[in-house]
Amino acid sequence: MTELIHTVADLTDLRNKDVLEAALARVIFELAEASSLSIWRVVNEGAEIKLRERVSLPAREGQSEEIGLDEARQEWRDCHAGRRYIYCPRDQGGLCRHVFPLCNEREVIGLLEILRPSKLEGVQAHTVHGLLRVYRNHLGLLDYGDRDELTGLLNRRTFGTYFKQITAENNVHAVIAVVDVDFFKRINDQFGHPYGDEVLILLARLMSEYFAGIEGIFRFGGEEFLLVLPETTQEEAWVALDAFRAAVAEAAFPQVGRVTVSIGFSKIEPDDSGAAAFGRADEALYLAKHSGRNRVKCYEELVLEGYLAGTRHSGGEIELF
Ligand code: GH3
Ligand code: MG
Ligand code: MG
Repeated sequence: MTELIHTVADLTDLRNKDVLEAALARVIFELAEASSLSIWRVVNEGAEIKLRERVSLPAREGQSEEIGLDEARQEWRDCHAGRRYIYCPRDQGGLCRHVFPLCNEREVIGLLEILRPSKLEGVQAHTVHGLLRVYRNHLGLLDYGDRDELTGLLNRRTFGTYFKQITAENNVHAVIAVVDVDFFKRINDQFGHPYGDEVLILLARLMSEYFAGIEGIFRFGGEEFLLVLPETTQEEAWVALDAFRAAVAEAAFPQVGRVTVSIGFSKIEPDDSGAAAFGRADEALYLAKHSGRNRVKCYEELVLEGYLAGTRHSGGEIELF
């Protein structure tokens, strides 16, 4: 009992979600005397939902697997769709399958599977369910601190850590973009603050739908959003960002009508700092504003064209946030 309390204390001491997930897996693996345990993360890639293997115990060599939810075994699909624990008695391999949904407040974010020779029952089953509830609550608290209250997007505080992760992964083709609402002050002045808020909520939703599967979408300030597009070339970024700009311009915002955004973007360099990358995208945004708004501008192109000096390049460890 005391040992379990310490285990829970250790788990809730963790702030990094990946480390927390790995620690949870190890604890449950031992506690459930599992033959094997795996955790799969639910990833939205466009319209397709995929399951990406995050943890596998006992640990094995090689790449982690990824499968479409459609191709996944029936118990996994049932667990995902019903947000509920699924048990499947011994199969041909002689092991019983236990599939648990991992949820945050909004949705199923992963699946945890335990295989063992007999059904998980009694105190062991209770403890596993209890630990998963602690995990969920703790994740909720971590999430709460990471998210912007109005839009539900990631907040500015989380950008630094996320950016370090992106550059550490040596993501050579990544792009950072700043999206700013045009004449937002007028919207507030003309329709009132609550309508302004509604525009921000709808815009955040549109952005999340448009860039489905992209983790790095932040509300950075009042009516300013930040996007990090991994594995995206400058040309691809142009196409995607301009299409998003056009989609916003065509969308109908209740009462307010039309709303437009200006976007500035820049390539992320391997030795970049978040502050420097943001600074470059922001310079491009400034020119997008001053050349008429409702348009996209690329920092590297503006430097080539001689509109910007190009001195703000990577490196610098100055943290402006
Ligand atoms: P520009 O086209 O140059 O970007 O003009 P703008 O009016 O959008 O820019 P400005 O920075 O002058 O105004 C931003 C306004 O956003 C001012 C502030 O009152 C408003 N704002 C900031 N946060 C919020 C919020 O959470 N809700 C609402 N409704 N308004 C906000
Ligand atoms: Mg603005
Ligand atoms: Mg602004």
